[in-house]
Amino acid sequence: MSKKLRYIYFLVGLCCFWIVSCTPKVPHEVEIVILSYNDLHGDFENLPKLSAFVKETRSTYKNVIVASAGDRFTGNPYNDYHEKSQFPIIDLENHIGVDIAVIGNHEFDFGVELLNERLKDAKSIAISANIKLEGSGSGLEGVKPYHIFEKNGIKIAFLGLTEVDRLTGKPSVLLERVADIEFFDPIETAVNYRFLRKKSHVFVALTHIGLREDLILADSMPELDLIIGGHSHTLLKEPIIQNNVLITQAYSRAKHVGKTTILLKKGVVSQITNEMIDLATWEGVVDSAIVEKIRIYENNPFLKEPFVTLQYEIPNHKQLGHMVADAALVLPGVDFSVVNCSSVRAARLDAGPVTYADILRVYPFNNYLVIVALKPSEIRELIETEFTDKRNCLMLPAGFEYVAQRTPGDNIKVVNMTYPNGKKLDETKTYHVAVNNYLFTKYLLPEQVANISVDISVLNNIVNFLRNNPNMDYRNVPTRAKFN
Ligand SMILES: [Zn+2]
Repeated sequence: MSKKLRYIYFLVGLCCFWIVSCTPKVPHEVEIVILSYNDLHGDFENLPKLSAFVKETRSTYKNVIVASAGDRFTGNPYNDYHEKSQFPIIDLENHIGVDIAVIGNHEFDFGVELLNERLKDAKSIAISANIKLEGSGSGLEGVKPYHIFEKNGIKIAFLGLTEVDRLTGKPSVLLERVADIEFFDPIETAVNYRFLRKKSHVFVALTHIGLREDLILADSMPELDLIIGGHSHTLLKEPIIQNNVLITQAYSRAKHVGKTTILLKKGVVSQITNEMIDLATWEGVVDSAIVEKIRIYENNPFLKEPFVTLQYEIPNHKQLGHMVADAALVLPGVDFSVVNCSSVRAARLDAGPVTYADILRVYPFNNYLVIVALKPSEIRELIETEFTDKRNCLMLPAGFEYVAQRTPGDNIKVVNMTYPNGKKLDETKTYHVAVNNYLFTKYLLPEQVANISVDISVLNNIVNFLRNNPNMDYRNVPTRAKFN
């Protein structure tokens, strides 16, 4: 062989090698399926169906990714009061085969140390780009800003974003739980990751920032193909297409599961569709192995022990709020109490035997009571600020009643505060008001703490109250907080 010929062979060989090794092996057509749910809050109820649905999808499609859009923790007593708190839900998600999860605000409910433990227990990848992970002294381990999966030669990038409250600069959680961790604005952070568009064929934001922020995110980042959201517990039966970005969110507690199908031709997204599956009406056979695991987790005798037999039902969410407020009002030295309605999580409480597990469904937070000394003007400000912040429902009081007026921008103004007998509160007087420590650390100041220490958890306070008042009748109590 001549030198020249050998040189040509060498060049041809080099070219072949280059084509094989450097051109991405992207098949002509690939289908990626992403299953998603959000705000599970430790709830086991829908997992036997979710597990079966995931299994069925994996047997039907080749490329499946299962994603959780945050808030896996808090809200189910069997999970919260397990000897390894929050371990059951992680174990069950491992069984289901969850691939990736964004950190939600409630993941901090039990402190960073416990979160780290559970992240180690989890087989899924944890992501969040707007938590300062390096050099912050936070010690939040094993969380990355983003992750890129590779399926069938297709790269799918997931960017994680965690809710940050604009007032506090921290997620909505007891501030002492996240005192040492720095958080950044999710939207301002996201735009720094535009480069992921070039590094991937499919670019997904897996967020726990609520739908309003997801819409802003879509407007700010047309580079995204898809936003899988959580936090606002929104059921999007049909996805929202905003700025050419598909947004989905699946209510909460895995009652629903989002199924997003992405079709790629020659490595380019050609179609994205989303279907919201209601697992209650899905007719697949439940996963019996996970049913057995759940049965073992729910066999906690302490939580199943009735501590009182109620004569009457507490018929709705508002009346449960009244009851929680009344429970704090009986504490010594307390004039009033206010309850943020989002802390009450059940829709009713049945008459008959009541257990700790029932009360934990009503009030799943590990809060304690703080007594603050406030003038009526400060109470008004607390109620108005909380409403502006949460935009959901009015705080429920005990010891007084109030009327609120809607003002522009979805805000309210408290226009009338009276005793239950209709007499106006004394504007010059300072009252002792019981609030939970979440409200206290978020909206009030240390110097507003009254010189009364009650040192009791909200949960135990409710238990004591019901034990002492088994004949309380909330069936027809007029609402103490209303719009005029
Ligand atoms: Zn949340």
